[in-house]
Amino acid sequence: MINKLLDNCFLTELNSEVIDVKEEDGYYWHAFKETIFYPEGGGMADDIGMIDNHKVLKLKEEEGRLYHLLDVRLEGSVFMSVNLHERFRKCQIHTSQHLISALLGNVYKVKTLSHHVSDEENDIEFDFDHFTDKMAFELQVLCNGLIRDDLEISIIYPTRASAQQFVSADKLTHEELRVVRIGNLDYNLCGCMHVPSLRYLQMIYISGYEKTKHGYKVKYICGDQLLDSVGKRYQVLDEASRTLALSHLYLNTGIHKLLNEQKALEHDVAVWKQKYLVLESERLLQKEEDVLHEFVDDMDVKSVVMLAQMIVEKKTAAVILAKVYDNCHVVIAVSKTSGLNAKELFQRLSQAIHIRGGGTELLAQGGGIYQESWKETILSFPITE
Ligand SMILES: [Zn+2]
Repeated sequence: MINKLLDNCFLTELNSEVIDVKEEDGYYWHAFKETIFYPEGGGMADDIGMIDNHKVLKLKEEEGRLYHLLDVRLEGSVFMSVNLHERFRKCQIHTSQHLISALLGNVYKVKTLSHHVSDEENDIEFDFDHFTDKMAFELQVLCNGLIRDDLEISIIYPTRASAQQFVSADKLTHEELRVVRIGNLDYNLCGCMHVPSLRYLQMIYISGYEKTKHGYKVKYICGDQLLDSVGKRYQVLDEASRTLALSHLYLNTGIHKLLNEQKALEHDVAVWKQKYLVLESERLLQKEEDVLHEFVDDMDVKSVVMLAQMIVEKKTAAVILAKVYDNCHVVIAVSKTSGLNAKELFQRLSQAIHIRGGGTELLAQGGGIYQESWKETILSFPITE
């Protein structure tokens, strides 16, 4: 049975009477003579609210009645109140969907395929074969023009014969027909709750669109949701503005400047690293030994490899153990004329200390979690047997 109390979205308080109570696991399902609670359906969520100051935990329809789950058993007269803010917000979102679907249906003869509501943004999918920025902009102008015109939204209960003038007979399957009209623009069978006229939508923002498998999704934000959304975004922009000491409109310029500065710094770091490696290799090449075993703890892996390659331009071989944070990295490099095989040497070393890696004849490398006890093994590892 249709609950006509839901025709007025602002009816959020009501005195009613308990007519049935069913217990379930210490909770109580209540049915009342009348109710203002909307049970989930048509893409619209359950109403949130209280009955005699007890929160309504769940709603369900059974035997043609709506049951309300409470943590106490109530009797006699009760006072119901529904959260108006939540109710109004979802009515705005739902009614906006009617409006957008009606406009696009009238202008482009497209069908609505699905509707999705979320806290942040909603979307409606249409069977469009194309959709453009211009169409999105025109839709927004059209919606807000009609909101300014404040078309009335009426709920009517037509006879089957009168409904057939607007809706094809195969859609008129319900026993009782409930129709939502927006002025002369739209005539739609719907059991949900709506705002009483378009001005209650306040404003619709078409926030984007997206190609889907069956058409296009048009995204929108409206009314209270739009104001919340603007508030949240302003907060983020304000924080970013303070951090960069720039106004909102110059934030992107500031971000690009930072990115360019970072690139320049990275370039400088690479130049100084190279200079350091040259100096370090010159210092090591002054040593008398022809095979160098070195320990470093201030270089990244790439630098260690470069250092090893610089050393074997003049020396026979280099074994470098690098400690990089908690990890170790071992590089074995041999000169082209040495007749040695770095890959085989690395395999031999990895059997002794269980490190993983591999490489080529001239350079092999690998590592694992750093262990102090390996240091002596690696730094005394015999290259020539
Ligand atoms: Zn509706």
